[in-house]
Amino acid sequence: MNTLRETLRELASTLRDRPDEIVLDVGAGGELLVARIRLVATLLLMLMPVINLLTGGGVDESLAGFAGTGLGTLLAWLWLILARRKRRYSWLPFVTSASDISMETLVLVLIALQSPAASLNTVIVWSCYPLSIFATALRNDGRVTLLAGLLAIVQYGTLALWVFANAHGQPLVSPGYGEVSVSNQAQRMILLLVTTLLTAVVVYRIQRLVLQSGTDTLTGLPNRSWLMHRVPRLLESAQRDQRSVALAIIDLDQFKRINDRHGHPVGDQALRHVVTVLGDALADGETLMRVGGEEFVLTLPHSMGPAWERMESLRQRVADTPMQLGDAEGGGRPDAERLSITLSAGLASYPADGTDMSALLKRADQRLIVAKRGGRNRVVARA
Ligand code: GH3
Ligand code: MG
Ligand code: MG
Repeated sequence: MNTLRETLRELASTLRDRPDEIVLDVGAGGELLVARIRLVATLLLMLMPVINLLTGGGVDESLAGFAGTGLGTLLAWLWLILARRKRRYSWLPFVTSASDISMETLVLVLIALQSPAASLNTVIVWSCYPLSIFATALRNDGRVTLLAGLLAIVQYGTLALWVFANAHGQPLVSPGYGEVSVSNQAQRMILLLVTTLLTAVVVYRIQRLVLQSGTDTLTGLPNRSWLMHRVPRLLESAQRDQRSVALAIIDLDQFKRINDRHGHPVGDQALRHVVTVLGDALADGETLMRVGGEEFVLTLPHSMGPAWERMESLRQRVADTPMQLGDAEGGGRPDAERLSITLSAGLASYPADGTDMSALLKRADQRLIVAKRGGRNRVVARA
């Protein structure tokens, strides 16, 4: 029961909360994919009035169809242009999903003006609702799914009520689509609701997978893929707000010796120990990532001077907190061996040392090498 309640709570938070940046980044790729599919679909739909005209359909009807599908194609083209931009518009998935649902409702309204029964009994046009709701899963944002699902339910529900109200109790029948029944309409509303919930579950699963793929299993820290997504965003926002940001590459000293002397499991334990010591001391705005075996990157929201002081105090903290060897080595006895671990770090700051991530990492790495050559257990900010 507990797990069910937990799952429901997590599902509710998927539908309510803004996802993490890395999840939204992957979702931006999904937005682009949906934008491409939408454009191809609307271009194909533009063929329908042409076929209608060639097979003896009315000119007025074909022109109206052409105008409608043309408008849809123009809109799809606009969404594609915006989705391809390097700059990410946070409102885009909301607007495009709402526009998809509303375009489908518009088509149903146009059909209703000709044949009310056909508008409520058509399966093909109605199916575009669940398809659009399901496509929101590619945006990785439960709030977009919720918006699309609610809009579909409200818009279709309003259309159905309007059509029934205008029928004044008369049966709604169409030669091609049969008679409209209340139970069939209720089933459609339930299907829209179920599609929305199912899509929310898919979004929840995708979010979990993306977050897992950005997490290091040994230490639980964000990993290199996180760095590749997070740091460019951090630099963009620093540029926007004209702030300084510093980056430290941290490498543990003589770590191979620890493995050689005490074995790999103790090496793993030592890694976790350092991460705990550093993690406990981290302040707001500081993010530690594990980017390699015993290499880490720390982002600091400071210019070089304060960043060096901060990194230096972290270095001291690690050096002053030896690890008590565990059962395998020391048996947890008070006289058990304590293992001192030290680190070296190279710092680089934005914008003084570079304006993009690779330039900053390169500079920090050069300074890390200087720290190692200088005897280890030190932080280098100038070289
Ligand atoms: P230096 O002070 O020059 O950095 O010396 P070092 O021995 O630390 O050298 P280097 O950074 O090149 O070596 C990293 C070693 O860390 C190699 C590898 O045995 C060990 N290592 C890397 N990842 C892990 C891990 O996940 N667990 C354990 N136990 N050891 C690891
Ligand atoms: Mg190393
Ligand atoms: Mg090392």
